[in-house]
Formats: sequence, structure tokens, C-alpha cells
Amino acid sequence: MNSEHQLETILQDKNLLENHRIIAQKVKDNQRISFDEGVYLFEKCDLPFVGVLANYIREKRHGNNTYFNRNFHIEPTNLCVYDCKFCSYSVLIKERSEGWEYTMEDMLNIVKKYDNEPVTEAHIVGGVLPQYDMAFYQKLFSEIKKHRPDLHVKALTPVEYHYIFKKAKVDYATGMKLMKESGLESMPGGGAEIFHPEIREQIAKDKCNADQWLQIHEEWHKLGMRSNATMLYGHIEQFWHRVDHLERLRDLQDKTGGFQTFIPLKFRNQDNQMSNVPESTVVEDLRNYAISRIYLDNFDHIKAYWAMISRSTAQLSLNFGVDDIDGTLDDTTKIYSMAGAEEKHPAMSTKDLVKLIKEVGKKPIERDTLYNVVTDYENVVFEDEVKPKYYALPVLN
Ligand code: SF4
Repeated sequence: MNSEHQLETILQDKNLLENHRIIAQKVKDNQRISFDEGVYLFEKCDLPFVGVLANYIREKRHGNNTYFNRNFHIEPTNLCVYDCKFCSYSVLIKERSEGWEYTMEDMLNIVKKYDNEPVTEAHIVGGVLPQYDMAFYQKLFSEIKKHRPDLHVKALTPVEYHYIFKKAKVDYATGMKLMKESGLESMPGGGAEIFHPEIREQIAKDKCNADQWLQIHEEWHKLGMRSNATMLYGHIEQFWHRVDHLERLRDLQDKTGGFQTFIPLKFRNQDNQMSNVPESTVVEDLRNYAISRIYLDNFDHIKAYWAMISRSTAQLSLNFGVDDIDGTLDDTTKIYSMAGAEEKHPAMSTKDLVKLIKEVGKKPIERDTLYNVVTDYENVVFEDEVKPKYYALPVLN
């Protein structure tokens, strides 16, 4: 049964609660759901219900297409001037001996390692340190582009930009323009955490606040550029804080249209100051993907980081609103593993990703950062792919 039939079946169910019906009908009619309806979905609706609605939207937008890219990360440092309570990645400057600090040369050498590889994106994000200032990043971006013009530079979040612009005494609009001129091509979605001050002040009080995060994305979008957005969920927030977060993103997207992808990030509790907080269940993770898909009617894509939630949950998520599972990574990121993700050395070949997607009946599409199709793998058979063999069983007469 396809998602259209499933939605129709739900709507014809005489026992369906009225509030459920109103939301299901709105999804069918391509109408926006309200804040209160968002909270209702989180508080009252189970996974099968939100899953059908989210899958309906996913199939309307993308059919079975499932996107991934060939990327690698550069994490300049794990030292940080901030002290976010949920962060398993950073060490404070006073514990400097436990951290790493790449030089410009180190980072350019990482880029050069991929000289003969068909990667399309360098994803650059890490801790915040004074020596990585505006001039440093301008030089880094321009050197990368000089060395390899075809590599898309997706780098830094408003957390870093707010810090370096303040130090350089430039406003956000000027700062983002200068970054663009240096070679920055898009912004990843990190640093958003939970926007509402009630939560943000408890878990990430020193870094940029919600308005600053949103303003920096807005300035970037005004330059005609694209970015992503995230939400760190499943810790001390309540459901309505999540909806507040989604609402602020939806509002900005109405204004600029510059976001491409929303990426829910599961809170992991290993080695951080919130280790006493239990992690969300897989059911809650899938519900969160699905409700995000339903709420963010003006976002094209919902992404699940396979390296953070595991390969099997990433496969499951493709039936709950997700249409993108991120990239090859090549064991270049420690952010997920240090927080307790199962993947300790996250790396998948293109073939692995294609297989993972095909196994659950979806269509693998390699994309570039801006979702231009690089290769449609639906009918691609890899040379060394082993076909299943069937052996004749002995017949007893
Ligand atoms: S989440 Fe980012 S800003 Fe916060 S402490 Fe960790 S690295 Fe620093």
C-alpha cells in the first residue's frame, strides 16, 4: 500500500479522534499545521500515525529518492572557549594537553589527501578558539578554493561567526559578505541546539543566542546563499520547546527560503555534563523525524546522520519523513563517536551507502551540497557486486 492509500485509510477510520483527523486532512490538503497542532502531535500521536503523514509528505516531495553525498570533515580543534553542558567533544582551554589544534597547513593537507578522490564537499566545523579568527578562516577558505575550485566549502556555524565577527568588530552582514568573498559556499546547521531561552540558558548559555543564530542565517540567505538547520532534542526540553524551535525556523524560511535541510540531532549522553539524562528511544527518534517533516512544510529535505543514529535506524527513518542520510565521511569526524554513537570510525563507501538505501526499497541519489544530482544509482550495478546464488536442493523421491 502506498502512502496515499495509507493516509486515506486513516481518514476513513470511524474511530479516529477528531483532532487526529483535522491534522491528517490538513496534510492531505497540503495545509500548514499550527503551533498547538505541533504540540498535539508530540503529546498525543503515536509513531504509526505520524509516520503515515510524514511518509505521505516525503513521497509527494521526493518519491523514493534518497540523497547522500561524498564528503569529508575537517575539525580544526576540539578545544573550545565555551562549555556547553551536552558537549562530549570539546575540552576547555585549561585542559589543552588533551586536545588537538590543527594549523592551516594541517587542514590544507587534509584537503590534499582527497586530490584524486571524487569528493564534492568539505564540511568544516569544530570548537571555538581565539587563534581561529576571521583572517584565519578567510585565508583557509580561499586557499582551499585555490587548491581545488570544484570542492564545495560548507563551513562554520553562527556560533563561530558570532565570535569571530565580534572580535573583528564587523557586523553580521559585512562578516558574511566577506566570508562569501573568501570562498565560503554554504553553512551547516549546527549550534542551534534548542532556541528557547528557558532551555538554552541551561545547556549552552554563553554562546550566540537564538536571535543571533537566526540573524546570521538570515544575512547569509540575503546574499543568495543556502544553509541547513538543526535541533538537539531528547534531553531536558519539553515537547513545546521543540515546536517553538521548529516554528522559529519555519518563520525564517518563510522570509528567506534559504534553508535546504533540517537535521534533528539526537542528544547522546556519553562523557558530558548531562550524562545523568537518559537518551531518547528509537521510537521517539522516529517520531521526532516524522513530526519535523510534517511541521516544516517549507523545508525541502529532512536528514538523518547515519553516523549518529546508526545505520539501521537511518534505514528505518527513510519511512518516517527522512530523505537524506548524509555522506561517506571517511572517518574524518569525531563529533558523533565522542558523544557515544555506535559508529566509532564512521566511514562508508559510495557502494555501502547505495546498498544501505536499496536494501529498504529506496532509490539512491548521490547529490552535491546544493542537491544537484551527481549520479542516480537506481540501475547501477557495481562491478564486484555478488549476485545471490540459488543452489538446487536435493530432491527426495
Ligand atoms: S557544542 Fe560547540 S560551542 Fe559548545 S562547547 Fe562544544 S564545541 Fe564548544
